[in-house]
Amino acid sequence: MMVSYHHKNSGQFEDICVADLDYAFTNVTLPDREGRWCVGVAEGKIVEIVEGDRLNAQHVWHLDGKLLTPGLVDAHTHIDKAFTAESLGDVFAQSGLASAIQAVRHLKSQFTIADIKQRATQALQWSIAAGTTAIRTNVEADAFVELRAVEGLLDVQRSLSDQIDIQLVAFPQEGWFAIPETLESGASTYVEQALQHGIKVIGGNVNQGLWSSNPEAQVDALFDLALRYNCDLDLHLDNWDSAEAFTLPYVAQKTIEHHYQGRVAVSHIASLIHVSDSQAQVAIELLKQAEISVTVLPTRIKLTRVAELLEAGLNVVCGTDNLRDPFIRYGDADLLKALFLLAQLTGYMANRDLERLWQTISNNAAKMLRLPYGINVGNLADLVVFDAYSIPEAILHQATRLAVFKSGKLVAGTMQDQVLSLHKPDFMSPRRWT
Ligand SMILES: [Zn+2]
Repeated sequence: MMVSYHHKNSGQFEDICVADLDYAFTNVTLPDREGRWCVGVAEGKIVEIVEGDRLNAQHVWHLDGKLLTPGLVDAHTHIDKAFTAESLGDVFAQSGLASAIQAVRHLKSQFTIADIKQRATQALQWSIAAGTTAIRTNVEADAFVELRAVEGLLDVQRSLSDQIDIQLVAFPQEGWFAIPETLESGASTYVEQALQHGIKVIGGNVNQGLWSSNPEAQVDALFDLALRYNCDLDLHLDNWDSAEAFTLPYVAQKTIEHHYQGRVAVSHIASLIHVSDSQAQVAIELLKQAEISVTVLPTRIKLTRVAELLEAGLNVVCGTDNLRDPFIRYGDADLLKALFLLAQLTGYMANRDLERLWQTISNNAAKMLRLPYGINVGNLADLVVFDAYSIPEAILHQATRLAVFKSGKLVAGTMQDQVLSLHKPDFMSPRRWT
């Protein structure tokens, strides 16, 4: 359609052609462009991006330079066991990883589908309020929970599909093989059943320090399954503070061997920090060749070689991980908080470094989940308005999420009270959670 654009400085009018927009944000700061921009949205998609305030629409939001970013992507969570810490009192706080595993087994055997859905939905509401529009969560499938978590989260995935994209990972928390007289109580048959229910990513829990059986055999079995079902892999790997649990090079070699570049993610890889510098260098080079994404989880506090991975050009991703369960008591599903912790732990302080870290909860995470992403014409209008004027400011101030949009629909935020608008569009009426 043609609209008449009024030049503020010259006082002249000019007819310009724009798409039929549902609404437009004017005078926004974008993460990867200099200057002020105007973003137009129609039918749930971004359809126009022009400089300044040169867009007219039925509804125009004047943002006066505030930061507009793509929705955040939380690439590593465990929402099926969220909010279970309280039921155990202080027991887990005094114990280690093995005790937490035993405690979770007991809890899982009592999970119901309804209870899983309720807790997972609560976790997702927090994620959405924090500006997350896509999430990947592990879903446990084993003899303790059987397929109740799978069924519950598939339901939640459907019911919240207009508010957040949810990718599910069939996760063998208890290891892969069943070895009597050890902690390992494997889940392989349940994981395959989870895939038959429609889950498309295979998880793993390869940790030589914890499971007694051959980690290479587990990796081989995971690749076999991935190839048979044409699924991506997302493995908890080498989450052990010693140089001994170091299966990382093997995973990278297998990824290359099976031509699975770009389809494998690993998380934790804590042992990388304990091996020699030369071993680490070789492993990082292999990771790069295998195009493996590395998820770092700052709530664990002890991290892997984050700076070296970033320097090497790896696709490094940050997630919120566990949420108030026997493994991690803390958390509120806010990626910006996880990023702040990551910045503190890595000592990243310069603006350019904070902007680099930002990639781990945005572009890098989306690349790992293989989602189309970014403020580009044709992409879904998954957007967040921050009460900040730059990425570093958003991180340092832990800026308020003024508005969160999923496919052009307002799903969270305080914007309705705070931002000037010429008209108040229908979608700005406060949303009630059901
Ligand atoms: Zn995890």
